[in-house]
Amino acid sequence: MVKIGSYWLDYAYSPRSPLKKNIKTDVAIIGGGITGVSAAFHLASRGIECVLLEKSTIGSGSTGNSEGNLVPLPLGRFRELVEKVGRKNALDIYNASVSVIREMANLSKGRPDLSFHYTKKFVLATTRAQAGLLKKEFKLTKACNIKSRFIPVPHKVIGASKTFYGGLIYESNFARINPARFVRELATRSEKSVKIFENTPVKVIRRLKDGRFELSSSTHRVVCNTLIAATETFSSEIALKDKNFKSIGVVAAIAEPLDKNVLRKLKIDINTRVIDTSENYAAIGPISGNKISVTYEIRPKFLSAFRHIVEFPIIRNIAAYVVKHGLAKVFPLLEKSRIDRIWGCKYASTKDMMPIIGRDPKNSNFLYSIGYGDHGLVFGFLGGKMLSEVYTKTQSRRTKKLLSLLKPKNGRNLTLKT
Ligand SMILES: Cc1cc2nc3c(=O)[nH]c(=O)nc-3n(C[C@H](O)[C@H](O)[C@H](O)COP(=O)(O)OP(=O)(O)OC[C@H]3O[C@@H](n4cnc5c(N)ncnc54)[C@H](O)[C@@H]3O)c2cc1C
Repeated sequence: MVKIGSYWLDYAYSPRSPLKKNIKTDVAIIGGGITGVSAAFHLASRGIECVLLEKSTIGSGSTGNSEGNLVPLPLGRFRELVEKVGRKNALDIYNASVSVIREMANLSKGRPDLSFHYTKKFVLATTRAQAGLLKKEFKLTKACNIKSRFIPVPHKVIGASKTFYGGLIYESNFARINPARFVRELATRSEKSVKIFENTPVKVIRRLKDGRFELSSSTHRVVCNTLIAATETFSSEIALKDKNFKSIGVVAAIAEPLDKNVLRKLKIDINTRVIDTSENYAAIGPISGNKISVTYEIRPKFLSAFRHIVEFPIIRNIAAYVVKHGLAKVFPLLEKSRIDRIWGCKYASTKDMMPIIGRDPKNSNFLYSIGYGDHGLVFGFLGGKMLSEVYTKTQSRRTKKLLSLLKPKNGRNLTLKT
């Protein structure tokens, strides 16, 4: 029987109690994913007291449902970023992301349960045209001193029947982590200054006459001077201008290749992550033992249905079948594997794949960091950290520069339903 639900979240966890009294605070954070918890952690490290409200449990949103890859650069899309913001700015974003991954490595030291490890990334092209783009990407990364290697005919390495026309291996600064345990550990380390309430959905946000915000759960209220929104974009209370975002549906799963030969062949590349650059993205990576994780992008519409129907045992197996065959199109070696766990979630991305981080143009005491695409674990951590610097007015020169690129502006901002 196929198991349902994120691999990372499947362990005993005792949530903190919900909000049980009215509170006044300087800063309130809504959302206990990587972004909100990073903001809380970095505020706590500066001794700032604040309150974090999470509607379910810490890490149970996109963060705990992700695949756990720490990616410092848009895979195969560095060139687009350079075209958009210029080489120097693109490199600044890359370097900031690399520093974040180092910080996450340091925070995970001595904690094997957080499963931090550096890895390589392998991007595959399924058409000659894509291979040409990857080659250009390779030249650019090389010119920027980003360690990478271009492989003209990777299908021999993969041993797949599908033809791949080229591959780019990013050789350093990519990593993997157990995202749920990491974010929960970070929350625990923040608690000296941060009051965390789980199972506390914020239902209504009201702007008071004096400019403060009042956040109401079904029973109690928090009044704050500054509000930090870290809810991904799928909060009905903090509306987003939908046209700025596309939501992407992704299914992650754990597969056990049945055939040892297949496993051996996949293991040739298993230290590298493999991503297809075609429309339907798919990726594989190691988990533990002979288990590998696989992700497959599906249409958001289908995803919502998927999340509901997956509760029924028969349909659950059909869903596993659909995912497996989708994957097998990209990785034919997985045709004979067994999907043993499956889960799905949505995440949001701005259209230009650039997150939005900073102060709202209309409400200077409303801060947010949102819309990361599939780089949310790194950008979320970075976003939370940058928001803490914005709040404490301690931005480094580099942060100021990054914020000038990523800050909310009209057309790239959230709408508060107050
Ligand atoms: C299947 C999948 C695979 C992915 N793989 C990767 C990957 O390998 N690498 C990577 O970098 N990114 C990946 N991503 C994207 C990444 O997971 C997200 O971008 C990132 O986790 C977003 O973090 P967040 O803290 O902003 O949001 P979330 O983790 O979603 O946190 C938001 C929190 O806000 C809470 N919330 C919402 N509304 C309210 C409310 N009204 N009141 C109180 N709380 C509220 C939610 O319950 C949630 O816990 C993946 C995403 C998916 C779905």
